[in-house]
Parts: sequence; structure tokens; C-alpha cells
Amino acid sequence: MADSALTHLECSRCRATLPADRLQNLCSCGGPLLARYDLVRAGRTLTREGLAGRRRDLWRYEEVLPGKASEAVALGEGGTPLLLLPRLGAECGLAQLYLKDESSNPTGTFKARGLATGVSQARALGARKLALPTAGNAGGALAAYAARAGLEAYVLMPKDAPRANRLECQAHGARLILVDGLISDCARLLAQRKQREGWFDMSTLQEPYRVEGKKTLGYELYEQLGGRLPDAILYPTGGGVGLIGMWKAFEEMEALGWIGPARPKMIAVQASGCAPVVRAFEQGKSQSQPWKWARTLAAGLRVPKPLGDFLILDAIRRSHGAAIAVSDKDILAAVRAWARQEGIFGCPEGAATLAALPRLIESRVIGRDDVVVLLNTGSGMKYLDVLSKALR
Ligand SMILES: *Cc1c(COP(=O)(O)O)cnc(C)c1O
Ligand SMILES: [Zn+2]
Repeated sequence: MADSALTHLECSRCRATLPADRLQNLCSCGGPLLARYDLVRAGRTLTREGLAGRRRDLWRYEEVLPGKASEAVALGEGGTPLLLLPRLGAECGLAQLYLKDESSNPTGTFKARGLATGVSQARALGARKLALPTAGNAGGALAAYAARAGLEAYVLMPKDAPRANRLECQAHGARLILVDGLISDCARLLAQRKQREGWFDMSTLQEPYRVEGKKTLGYELYEQLGGRLPDAILYPTGGGVGLIGMWKAFEEMEALGWIGPARPKMIAVQASGCAPVVRAFEQGKSQSQPWKWARTLAAGLRVPKPLGDFLILDAIRRSHGAAIAVSDKDILAAVRAWARQEGIFGCPEGAATLAALPRLIESRVIGRDDVVVLLNTGSGMKYLDVLSKALR
């Protein structure tokens, strides 16, 4: 029988260890906490062969996830397709260009992965009122999973977030607090109010378990590529949870004996109107500076100062990856190209990865023989108001 092999939490900054049997937010040093497992124990049942007959959602990786899969708050998250992009691949001279298409997740984006594990653990450890600041999609996912869990959700969202995000929060019965500002302003407001309101803070990287759901992207890629990793992964980076999560998954997979020390090039793609990680990467810095006047139609990339910037930058550098910014105009052209040439109606954030491709090939970060994975992080359907003007 499979079981979670979770043992404790570890600070990603100072390496302090904390118990995992109670609700935790940041380390006392301010660093995000990461979940640690007994991977020797996990490896006894978590094998590639053994995975074959398991459930299709992300809970198939139960040993390296928190809590009991049988008690998880689940809506069918994960298990998304990895699609070859033959036409777009041929166009840029790549024989093995893939798309990990996250649009079929509950709530239409990959935020479902993180909120499934985050809400499951929050409920298991006794939280009742869950709150987060969001650029949009995390709010919708929290609202859905909290409803499923029978918990209260409080969502702080910019008032100009995509309409679908506001509507889904209302539909799921979340308390929606619209803020005249960005996700960073929402986060400030949440920090001021959470104690008084008794909210459990589910902000990006402020609790340890959203990363755990998103890391399953890394496990799925390995399985879907037949027991190997790609050469490069292009990730549309806001808070960077998925990139940090996949990097963590690769470390676990090495400890499990599934892979060696080689890693895919981790490539962070941002919008040129909000590119703090790209700027820090270009300047050789280990942390980012808050981006002023953040502006892009790719709402999920409108994160002026990611809390986990140092983890993102570390993964990029250690993998010999890159960080690259693309314009909203190029993002829209990429939305169109995916839709017309491959039948994928992607979100602007995801399309940013396609938009980044030509420059990455030109600068030889990506080679013609590389196995390359783009991430479409959500459905274009969640951006009808944003895209209806731009795509016509
Ligand atoms: C949140 C979001 C992103 C960015 O993800 P991070 O893990 O915060 O970097 C990208 N695309 C979509 C659709 C999102 O909702
Ligand atoms: Zn610490």
C-alpha cells in the first residue's frame, strides 16, 4: 500500500527544520518552507512500473505528496496531455517540440494542481478560513477547492482581473475582495487583515503545499516522455511556483534513482511589461527588485516581486537555462498561432512560451535536436474579455 512519506518541512533559506503535523506559513527567517520526504521509504512503492495501474490524477504520486490521497480534496487535477506540436515545430526547425497542455485542469488552469494539495493539507491540519492574494486564476482555484472542501475562501484580487476570475469566485461562494492595485497590493492588505479575521494565508510560497501539487508537472513529464526528462522547459513565470516545484521534483527523482544529475534547461518566460526575474537574471543578481508599473495582458505574469525569486534564479542558473521577456504583441501572435496551426486555444501566459522560442533558438540556448516542452498553463476561455478585443 502506498502512503505519504512526508517527514518534515525545511526552510529554503536557512535550512531550519519544522514539524509538518501542524499549519505552517513562512520560516521565522522569512524563507518559504518546503516539504521533505523519506525518499528511501517512498521508493519502495513509487516505481515507474508500479505507477502504470494507478489513478490518473496527480494523486498517483501519493508517496511524494502530503496527506492521504484517499482523503484529498480532488476535482480531477493533473494527468494532462503532452502533445507534439508538429507544425510549429517544423516552422522553427525543432523535431521534438511538445506542449504540456494544462487547460483541461479543473478551473481551466494549472493553479488547480497547487490548490488541490494546498487546500487538502490546510483542511487536514485544521484551517477553516482560507485566504490568498491573486492575479486571478489562483483565486478561482481556491474558491473551487474550498467549496469542495467545505471551507470558507477569501480572495483578494485586482479589480481589473479577467472577468472569468471574478465570476468563478462568486459562483463558488468565495468572499471576493476587489483591490484597486496589483497582486502585491492585495498581499499587503491580506497581511494586515489575516490575524484579525482568522484567515489561513494560502499565498504563493507562504504555505508549503501548493508547490507540492505543481511539482507533479515534473513527474508527469518524466512518465510521458517514457522515463526521461526533456532538454528544456519553458515556463511562464509569475510567482514561479511550477518552476520551483519541477526543480524540486527532479531532485526527488534523482534521490529515487530515476534520473542522474543532468537537468533540463529551466527557462523563465515573462512579459516585457513585468519582468523582474529577467532583469535580475541579466544583471547577475540572486534576487529581483520590485517591478514598477507592471502591465501586461497576461494577468498571471503580473507579479512585480516574486517571493521565491531566489529559488527561480538558482534553478535557472544551475540548469544553464535562461530568462527572457516577450511583448504583449508577440504573446497575442502566439495565441493565434497555437489556435490556428495546432488547435490549441491557450492562455496568454502560456502563449508567451511559444513567443519566446525563436529568440532562444537564435541565441542557441535551445538546439535543433533538443526535446523542448512549452507549458500552456490555462485555457484561452478564461480570457474572453481580454482576448475578444485583441484577437479580432
Ligand atoms: C499563475 C499563472 C501563471 C504563473 O504561474 P507561477 O507559478 O505563479 O509562476 C502562468 N499562467 C497562468 C495561466 C497562471 O494562472
Ligand atoms: Zn529559515
